[in-house]
Amino acid sequence: MFKAILIEKGDDGQRVGIQTLDEAQLPEGDVTVKVECSTLNYKDGLAITGKGPVVKTFPMVPGIDFAGTVESSSSDNYKPGDAVLLNGWGVGEKHWGGLAEKARVDSRWLIPLPKAFNARQAMAIGTAGYTAMLSVMALEREGVTPDQGEVLVTGASGGVGSYAIALLARLGYHVVASTGRAQEADYLQGLGAREVIDRKTLSEPGKPLAKERWAGAIDSVGSHTLANVLAATKYDGTVAACGLAQGMDLPGTVAPFILRDVTLAGVDSVMKPTEARIEAWRRLGELMVPEQIDAITETIGLEAAIDKAGDLLAGKVRGRLVVEVG
Ligand code: NDP
Repeated sequence: MFKAILIEKGDDGQRVGIQTLDEAQLPEGDVTVKVECSTLNYKDGLAITGKGPVVKTFPMVPGIDFAGTVESSSSDNYKPGDAVLLNGWGVGEKHWGGLAEKARVDSRWLIPLPKAFNARQAMAIGTAGYTAMLSVMALEREGVTPDQGEVLVTGASGGVGSYAIALLARLGYHVVASTGRAQEADYLQGLGAREVIDRKTLSEPGKPLAKERWAGAIDSVGSHTLANVLAATKYDGTVAACGLAQGMDLPGTVAPFILRDVTLAGVDSVMKPTEARIEAWRRLGELMVPEQIDAITETIGLEAAIDKAGDLLAGKVRGRLVVEVG
């Protein structure tokens, strides 16, 4: 038997609670993992509150990330005792996820836990930090270098934003953080932001082109914010788009692309091939120091994860939440 957060759907809507389940109920998979830690990402917030159509089949154990130890395996790639990590692949959406003491998954979705991190640290990074790393790699791929000028991070106090700031600063970029939480300015500067701006300057409808300011940007917000960021991106600059905290729409024009050679680089963490995942986690191991991971992270238990889901969507959570499961 094991404990899990379970989301059920009835005629009266969605119910969420902690339940004790039988291992026989676990979905198909060739590896069973004793989960040590999971985390709450924005998507988990949507799943637990039912505010977004994240969960595709019910009942569902949420949790798009987990880290733990292999308990049993019929895969040649993993053996009992191996430390493993999972991010995405539809886990917590279509396949039972990590907010449980046990998970059974397809071994192809796992990667070995990077040597640089323990399970708690890996979950403090989680999909948010790994997506921030993929976004930084997208800027690098498009040739954005620290000498080109300011790089903007939107949704700065959130999980993706916090890691994007820390990683860019570590790599020597001049980081500007956009936030709706002026009270977090010290936190954002502590992560490496050289300037903090009010997100209101970006979140309202703007002009097709604005004064050129950003050499690059990592945007986890979407909507008018992304349109305005593109409009103010310098000639040949790149914006990595990875989120939709303001909205899924993109109410802009093609002007930045056809008049300023701006690149809009999409970033998806869920279906990212394994090789790129391993590279992103290797870079995270190189760039993130434990003190900084701790500064970004709050640790909670399984029970508290249900309440915190609403806070996360309301933008009340700073940085990252690790859920200690085992
Ligand atoms: P968080 O909730 O931790 O952070 C989101 C941040 O966005 C908030 O902290 C807030 O920052 C800002 N924000 C919230 N609401 C608004 C709004 N209405 N207008 C403008 N800014 C807003 O979420 P995560 O960092 O985990 O995820 C961020 C986004 O990235 C989500 O949309 C998520 O779905 C997406 N994502 C995408 C992935 C991918 O594979 N592409 C993977 C992971 C996440 P502040 O208070 O500083 O303004």
